[in-house]
Amino acid sequence: MTTTIVGAQVFDGTAVLGIQNISIEDGKIVQVGGDVPAGSQVVDASGSTLLPGLIDAHVHTNRDSLALALQFGVTTELEMQGTNTRDNRAAISADDTVADVRSAGFGITPPGGHPSELFPEGFRPGPPPGAQPPPGLPPLMPFSTTPEQAVAFIPQLIERGSDYIKFMVDDGSVEGHPGLPMLDQATLNAGVAEAKRHGMLTIAHALTVDATRMAIEAGIDGLAHLFMDGPHTTEIIDLAVDAGVFFVPCIVLDASMMGITGRDLADDDRVATRLDADWDTTLRSSFNHYPQGSLDDVLASAKALHDAGIDLLVGTDASVALPFMGGLAHGASVHHELQYLVRAGLSPAEALRAATSTTARRFGLDDRGRIAEGLRADLLLVDGDPLTTIGDTLNVRGVWRRGQLLSTS
Ligand SMILES: [Zn+2]
Repeated sequence: MTTTIVGAQVFDGTAVLGIQNISIEDGKIVQVGGDVPAGSQVVDASGSTLLPGLIDAHVHTNRDSLALALQFGVTTELEMQGTNTRDNRAAISADDTVADVRSAGFGITPPGGHPSELFPEGFRPGPPPGAQPPPGLPPLMPFSTTPEQAVAFIPQLIERGSDYIKFMVDDGSVEGHPGLPMLDQATLNAGVAEAKRHGMLTIAHALTVDATRMAIEAGIDGLAHLFMDGPHTTEIIDLAVDAGVFFVPCIVLDASMMGITGRDLADDDRVATRLDADWDTTLRSSFNHYPQGSLDDVLASAKALHDAGIDLLVGTDASVALPFMGGLAHGASVHHELQYLVRAGLSPAEALRAATSTTARRFGLDDRGRIAEGLRADLLLVDGDPLTTIGDTLNVRGVWRRGQLLSTS
């Protein structure tokens, strides 16, 4: 059975194609443009814009969070620490009522290093509360303080199904925990080199300019955050350009670290109707570890990186529904991040690329992130025109995951 979405303006992940018919069948996009195929079921989408399903390039997630994300048109989440590795996600991959997922597994960090400082005494990072314990082996916790240890963990992480390798480079200075154990340069260099030798994409958590410089010096492929401890310098921009790294700025997280909550987003009916009480409370909270930070500096850094030709990817760092990790909610915060990127000075089309085709390209997700024949029918239909008004991405009218129309509340 072929379904054809008719009358919508189409943004294919890179450019606006104008009003085009898009046909889907057996979970894939089978025709872009042209006439409606004979016998096709027609979806009238006049007045709407059809986008590739959005990708959140920085989350910590579980089945319920993946379901929430999909309600907001986020069809893929990329986990940057967690348990949704290859062998643990067969049920998720097969279930069109939740977003698809990829995962780093657990990141390489010293014992007692980030993210242990984020949790209250007695709380240990691991599967979020209430999550189903993953089948199979317990997750590998790659605690490393020497190059030899980091190198030894790389093949083990790959064996356990990590899709990319994450490194924590954090001295705790912006989390109110100065002196936190941190990977040293030699350990980072060795781990990154070993991961790349195995053909793996490497990503670093870094919240300061110094930690960002360390990661780039080690040869990292991408940064899972944008530094927030000061304005950018020409030096750090030039280093990033020369290395060809990408950034997942997670401006929503930087804002939350500065005490800026997601209250305005939570007050939006298009968001409120989809959040339960726990997520509503969480979105209205914030991390608030670095109130002395400047959001204007972060926005200016994002713009400077973008202007220098650096790939920016939309990510949120949404994790569990706990107020001490607040200001964020799965799915909803992707739309918030798009708004922040436009506020930083990107055009709506540039921001939308950062949530679709750019992310697919940088993560090697060749089957998604664009509206093109042969790709997965992961689609988001919204009323209005987010290419002129980015906030229109929240006017969710339809979400398809592998061609299956989600019933949106
Ligand atoms: Zn994170």
